[in-house]
Amino acid sequence: MDIKTVGIVGAGQMGNGIAHVMALAGYDVTMTDISEDALQAAIKLIDSNMERQVSRDKITAEAKADAMARIATTVTLTDLGPSDLIIEAATERETVKQAIFEDLLPHLKPHTILTSNTSSISITRLASRTDRPEKFMGFHFMNPVPVMQLVELIRGIATDSETYDACKQVVDKLGKTAASAEDFPAFIVNRILMPMINEAVYTLYEGVGNVQSIDSSMKLGANHPMGPLELADFIGLDTCLAIMNVLHDGLADTKYRPCPLLTKYVEAGWLGRKTQRGFYDYRGETPVPTR
Ligand code: NAD
Repeated sequence: MDIKTVGIVGAGQMGNGIAHVMALAGYDVTMTDISEDALQAAIKLIDSNMERQVSRDKITAEAKADAMARIATTVTLTDLGPSDLIIEAATERETVKQAIFEDLLPHLKPHTILTSNTSSISITRLASRTDRPEKFMGFHFMNPVPVMQLVELIRGIATDSETYDACKQVVDKLGKTAASAEDFPAFIVNRILMPMINEAVYTLYEGVGNVQSIDSSMKLGANHPMGPLELADFIGLDTCLAIMNVLHDGLADTKYRPCPLLTKYVEAGWLGRKTQRGFYDYRGETPVPTR
């Protein structure tokens, strides 16, 4: 199947990045959001991110202009109906995603492939509530989308090989690398990454090290480009906690128990960079450890 048109639901952090890379790869993109402001902010951000690529000679000014012209926006979800491929990247709440697919279904073409960029919700369960579970799968980009090389492609129990192959071709055309994952809680990257971050928080909680010593140990001792606590702040501590809860509930193993200190930071509203405070305080010139 030859995919030419892509519909993106949600113009947030991930949606705008997905629109950016799809348009540069030559796909005609229609992006929707419930908020017109979010759509306008996304277009502005895509424009400035592409401009940075132009100034670094990564793309030409002409490629940028062509890509920007390929992105249409709409607040009407059903305008995405005729798309060959739909990537849902709305808020990480199952009821929200379910309602989006329900509203879209009567407007889709028979061949349309439905995908979700969810980090943690069961692909099989989302698929089972549509009329096309065999044409449904997980299309999981990493953040920031234009920079990160990996896309996890997640098969639900019913996903057929034609659908998988069509999505794999899209990943290839984006110049990214696909990792094939089965549909179990948190898939591959977060299944491995989040328990490591959670363990770093336990290491802090138990006083084995402080924020600085834990992060520099993993940077210098394991060659990680960022320390686990710094990385947790970048991802968002609420997101880290939500994914640990999905692992804990979905796999019912106490080894995934979220660290009480992680819960405490989230309850305090110290969610990391996005709230200016997490394991580091970002309100000054340089980040200062909070423990
Ligand atoms: P975000 O909060 O930045 O953006 C979500 C957008 O969805 C918002 O603009 C919101 O207005 C919009 N939205 C909400 N309900 C909608 C609806 N009914 N119809 C259309 N738009 C709607 O969130 P994000 O970080 O971009 O995450 C989006 C998805 O990507 C989530 O499923 C998340 O798990 C996944 N994801 C996030 C990351 C990350 O690091 N942030 C990484 C990989 C995957």
